[in-house]
Amino acid sequence: MGNHAYVVGAATAGLIAAKRLAARGVRTTVYDQKRVLGLPVRASGILSISGLSELDLKYESSITNTLYGANIHCGNETMSVVSKTPVAHILERQKLNDICFDEAAGEGAEVITGKRIDSSFLTGLQGHGVIVGADGAVSTVASAFGMGSMDRFVLTYKAEYEVRAPDPKMVDLFFDNSRYKGLFAWLAPNEHDVLEVGVGIESTLGNARAAFDAFIRQKEVSNIIGGIKPLSEGACMIPMAMRKRIADDANGVVLIGDAAGQVKPTTGGGIIFGGKAAGMAAEAIAKHLEGAGRLSDYEREFRRRHGADLWMHSMINKTYRSMGQGSMGAALKVMRTFGIDRFLGMYGDMDRPSLILKRFFLRNLA
Ligand SMILES: Cc1cc2nc3c(=O)[nH]c(=O)nc-3n(C[C@H](O)[C@H](O)[C@H](O)COP(=O)(O)OP(=O)(O)OC[C@H]3O[C@@H](n4cnc5c(N)ncnc54)[C@H](O)[C@@H]3O)c2cc1C
Repeated sequence: MGNHAYVVGAATAGLIAAKRLAARGVRTTVYDQKRVLGLPVRASGILSISGLSELDLKYESSITNTLYGANIHCGNETMSVVSKTPVAHILERQKLNDICFDEAAGEGAEVITGKRIDSSFLTGLQGHGVIVGADGAVSTVASAFGMGSMDRFVLTYKAEYEVRAPDPKMVDLFFDNSRYKGLFAWLAPNEHDVLEVGVGIESTLGNARAAFDAFIRQKEVSNIIGGIKPLSEGACMIPMAMRKRIADDANGVVLIGDAAGQVKPTTGGGIIFGGKAAGMAAEAIAKHLEGAGRLSDYEREFRRRHGADLWMHSMINKTYRSMGQGSMGAALKVMRTFGIDRFLGMYGDMDRPSLILKRFFLRNLA
């Protein structure tokens, strides 16, 4: 096998992998079907500060806002989880993609744009190096090599409005299983004067646009954006489960990011886990090409380090998907009564529920 990595997809996961591979001395070529990388922007960019610190990216110039917590709404109940220190940054996604591109190219990765990869091209690459599928939820690489289907998706619709957010330091999440089952609706202050409004619903339940239209007619939202034309709007999808297999030694293929389903089902956030997977995959590929390891070492290590957290995210999501509006509102009330909101404000972690549990037990022991 040649000392070459072929990465399909030049978004965050693919470019982070390309940077790490090139830095390890692996000849790296990245392909993307888009002529202008990162556009159109269909996703948001709320990322935990702790997670970002682990990605080894110079992301600072893409920050548009900083958040201290979330207001969680269900019916008439609201629970606010507020931290004294910043917990997350909102990043401008196009700018973040540019930063990832510059860092990958800076290490010597070759990036070819405007080239859509199909299964016959992939077959031609086999035997010449390792193929990295970083091509998103509907991955051509995963289907070309039979790496399992994606079990669950959420459909999203979101728009940005030039208007001041009610509280520019907080994101608002609205849970209502009769309207946005599977995820939630949100108001995110992308900048102090730009508010993002969005909804995510289980793909089997149909139309995210219709759910969005209902959400913006809701009083709390129409009071803020009523009559204002959106700056941008669009639909997208989010995978909500890991693929059964993310490394294939026989075919010399690995999957990372949304192609692998490395997304938190509680929020649909995938950049942190996808970015971490990209680093781990690059390390395993470099060792494999040096003759010192297998590609499946990446899958084993990813599941060992992050499998429990992704499983917990999926259990939390499954629990609130199964709750009626009344019982969810009651759950928020109980959590407030027992001070869970304050605990999460002090010890919460957006990415790692296992860390929250650990802190909870340690605090009770103490
Ligand atoms: C509405 C919405 C809000 C979100 N909010 C957040 C958030 O706040 N925080 C967060 O962490 N995550 C968020 N996410 C999820 C996040 O956007 C994804 O997890 C992330 O973009 C995945 O990156 P990726 O590199 O794996 O794949 P993608 O971003 O999907 O990129 C795949 C790339 O592969 C290319 N490609 C695909 N097929 C081919 C082919 N056959 N040939 C060549 N190129 C190909 C595409 O052009 C694309 O550039 C959100 C998603 C949505 C939809």
